[in-house]
Amino acid sequence: RVVIGTKVDQNHQNWVMAYNMLTGIRFTVSRTNAKFDRELTEADFQAKHKFSFDVTGNELTPSAKYDFKFKDYAPWVFRHLRAKFKLDPADYLMSLTSKYILSELGTPGKSGSFFYFSRDYKYIIKTIHHAEHKFLRKILKEYYQHVEQNPNTLLSQFYGLHRVKVPYGPKIHFVVMNNLFPPHRDIHQTFDLKGSTVGRNFKEEELEKNPRATLKDLNWLRRDMHLEFGPEKRRIFFEQMERDVRLLQRLKIMDYSMLVGIHDLRKGNQENLRDKTLQVFQPGGGSPGDDMGPDGRGMLMRTPSKLESARKARELRQTLKQEKPVPMAHTGSRMPDTLEENTPKRDFIFYSDDGGFRATHEDDSPGDEIFFLSIIDCLTHYGLAKKLEHLWKGLSNDKKLISPISPEPYGDRFIDFIESITKSPEEATREAQSASRP
Ligand code: ATP
Ligand code: CA
Ligand code: CA
Repeated sequence: RVVIGTKVDQNHQNWVMAYNMLTGIRFTVSRTNAKFDRELTEADFQAKHKFSFDVTGNELTPSAKYDFKFKDYAPWVFRHLRAKFKLDPADYLMSLTSKYILSELGTPGKSGSFFYFSRDYKYIIKTIHHAEHKFLRKILKEYYQHVEQNPNTLLSQFYGLHRVKVPYGPKIHFVVMNNLFPPHRDIHQTFDLKGSTVGRNFKEEELEKNPRATLKDLNWLRRDMHLEFGPEKRRIFFEQMERDVRLLQRLKIMDYSMLVGIHDLRKGNQENLRDKTLQVFQPGGGSPGDDMGPDGRGMLMRTPSKLESARKARELRQTLKQEKPVPMAHTGSRMPDTLEENTPKRDFIFYSDDGGFRATHEDDSPGDEIFFLSIIDCLTHYGLAKKLEHLWKGLSNDKKLISPISPEPYGDRFIDFIESITKSPEEATREAQSASRP
C-alpha cells in the first residue's frame, strides 16, 4: 500500500505544529459541539476565541504536551457548515484527533502552503497565508449563504478555520477542508485546470520520476481528454459550476482551479480491484447502481451552447498536435481500502457515484470513469493575486501574457474552458472525425 505524503510522527520536524493543531481542533470542536444547537447570529461570523494551552492546564483548557496558543474562528458557522456538508460530528473529531498522525504533503503549490491529510485521508489541513485568512473571514457569510442555497456546490468545503502559535513562533493560520479524493479508490490521473495556458504545463519528462504528479491545462489538451458527461450530467455540472464561478467573480476571487481526479473503472479491474468495483456498484450493496441517473435536485435548467470556446480549444489542440504524443500515465496508488457504507457524500450529486461523478455516454448511460471534481484554491483576492503574479512571473514572461487578468474575465475564461472540454466520448469522436476531414 502506498501512503501519500510523509507520516508526521514524533521525529518529524513539524510534529509539534501538527500536535498543536490537532489538540486545538479537538478542544474547540468538542467545546462547540457540546452546546445545544441554535440559529446563527450576525456576531457568529466575526467570532474568534483564544485559548492558551500549557503543560499544566488551567480552568479553561486541559493540559497539553507543549505550550501554545490556539485561536478558533467562527466556530458556530463552521459547526453549521459541517452539518450542511453532512459530516458526523463524532466522526470528524475521530478522524482529526483520534491519533496524532497526519501525512504531510509538503508544499505542492508555489504558495508555500503546507498540506496535511488526516490519518484516514478524509480531511485536509491547509496552512494559509494571513491575507487568505482575513479574506475567508470577510467572505464567510457569503460563502455560507452560497452553500445554503447550493448544497451541491463544487467549491472547496471548509470545515474549520483556526490559528496556532508557539511562543516566539509565527502565527500559523489553517483551514480544514474535504479531501476530494476518496481513500478507497485509486486515482489514476490528477489535473489542476485553470483555463489558461501560461505556465500551465507540467513537464512530461518529470512524470516518470513523479507518476502521481498533478498535471495541468496543457497536459490535458495534449492528451485530448474530456470530462466525459452526456447531456444530462453535463447540464447539471455546468449549471452548478456557473453558479459557483459567479460567486467567485462577485467576490473578486481569482487563481482558482478545477481539480480533476480520474478513476478509470477498467484499470481498476486490471489492478485486481474487480471485487471492490463490483461491491461498490452493485445496487444490493446499498451503493449506486449502473443505471443510476442524476436526480437534478436543486438544479436549474440550462442549454449549453459553447461552440466558440470549443473552437478555441480545438485550435489550441491543433497547435499541440505538432508535439510528440505522450503516453497516458498509469499511476495506481492504493489508499486505505475501507469502503464505507452510507457515506454522507452520497447525498451530494457530484460526490454520489462512489465519492465522485461517474462519466456518461451521449445517451446518458454510465461510462467507464469516475470523475472527482472541485473548484479549489479559491481564497485569492484580486489584489493579492496581482502582487503574487508580479513576484513570480514579473521578469520572465511576455508582458502581455502576464498582465493580471481580472476576476470577471478569469471566471468567464474558466467556464469557457471547462465547458469546452466537457463532452461525451461519442461527441468527442464525431468532432475529431469532422475536424480531420479536409
Ligand atoms: P498555488 O497558490 O501555488 O496554486 P496552493 O498552495 O494554494 O498553490 P492549491 O492550489 O490549493 O495549493 O493546491 C495544490 C494541490 O494540492 C492541488 O493541485 C491538488 O493536487 C492538491 N489539493 C488541493 N486541495 C485539495 C483537495 N481538497 N483535495 C485533494 N487534493 C487537493
Ligand atoms: Ca492553486
Ligand atoms: Ca493558492
